[in-house]
Amino acid sequence: MQVAEKIQSLEHLSQVELVGALDKYLGAERRLLACFILYLIEFDRRKIFRELGFSSSYHWMTNGLGMAESGAVRRMNAARIMVRYPQMAQMIFSKIMNGQLSLMVISMIFSHVNNDNCVELMEQVSGKNRLEVEKFLANRIEGYHAMQSARAWMRVLPGASVQNEMASSRGSEAIPLPINEADAKLEANAGLVGADRQRVADRVATPAVQTPGPAIRLAVTLVGEGAKDLLRLRELYPYRDPSQIIHDALGLMRKARDLPASRVPKAIQRQVFVRDASQCTFVSDDGRRCSERGRLQIDHILPLAKGGDDRPENLRLLCAAHNQMMAERHFGKDFMRDKIASGKH
Ligand SMILES: [Zn+2]
Repeated sequence: MQVAEKIQSLEHLSQVELVGALDKYLGAERRLLACFILYLIEFDRRKIFRELGFSSSYHWMTNGLGMAESGAVRRMNAARIMVRYPQMAQMIFSKIMNGQLSLMVISMIFSHVNNDNCVELMEQVSGKNRLEVEKFLANRIEGYHAMQSARAWMRVLPGASVQNEMASSRGSEAIPLPINEADAKLEANAGLVGADRQRVADRVATPAVQTPGPAIRLAVTLVGEGAKDLLRLRELYPYRDPSQIIHDALGLMRKARDLPASRVPKAIQRQVFVRDASQCTFVSDDGRRCSERGRLQIDHILPLAKGGDDRPENLRLLCAAHNQMMAERHFGKDFMRDKIASGKH
């Protein structure tokens, strides 16, 4: 049946029938959602995303299933909270089913839940809407507003091509930051809205030095130690623009992360990064190459323990998830679990 005909046919329904149908579909939607979370828990536990060519369940949901970032984050949060607090799993499942707990509310309390307060917190927010939960958390959690406003606002400016910049920096030590994902998450978490965001952004936008390449507007409220550190750095470098201080701090972090601690000589590592285009090289059975560009590791195709060497032909870039998967394939899950537990990996 065509949609137009279907809609027309609904004109004949009585009010009771219409409300009943909507009620039924909403109930089905909630039941399906609760079931999706249960299956997601098992999918994540088995790390099946790795086999499918993704670096996390989140990436699989967004890039593989085409789910919106916020939807994927909320589903992951609900799954994690049920795994972390198994005593709560039944209650959370039932409340999602009967509509007393939305995934948005679960995400709002996600970072405030602990073993001592989980049952009570979950009871308190049940049946509340977003605004009511905001109020509840503001009264309940010390420094809640500061935490909210401390979240950053960030936008890659139009016309700036991050990918091109990455390409041109290949061969140096640069490893691309997962800008898009970070951007999406920060946008989703941003405490500021609309005009406020723009106003704040405009105030802080102008970089100290105009350089070609990508440009990012960043608005961030630092609290506590972070604020003290920035004030101290401004005292130490009074003539340096705050953006320059952030630039330098990012540079230090990037250097620390760029080339992973590895026995492989830096020159060869760079060669591998260029050859593999700074991206995880894992390819799933159906031909999908993992798109992960963050936290890349140099992997020995034939492990050193099995006679492999440091020649570029024996090296490849893998993300953390796929590096671990390959290690498990070589050495077995139990061996790798013990190794990771003992901190030697
Ligand atoms: Zn990967």
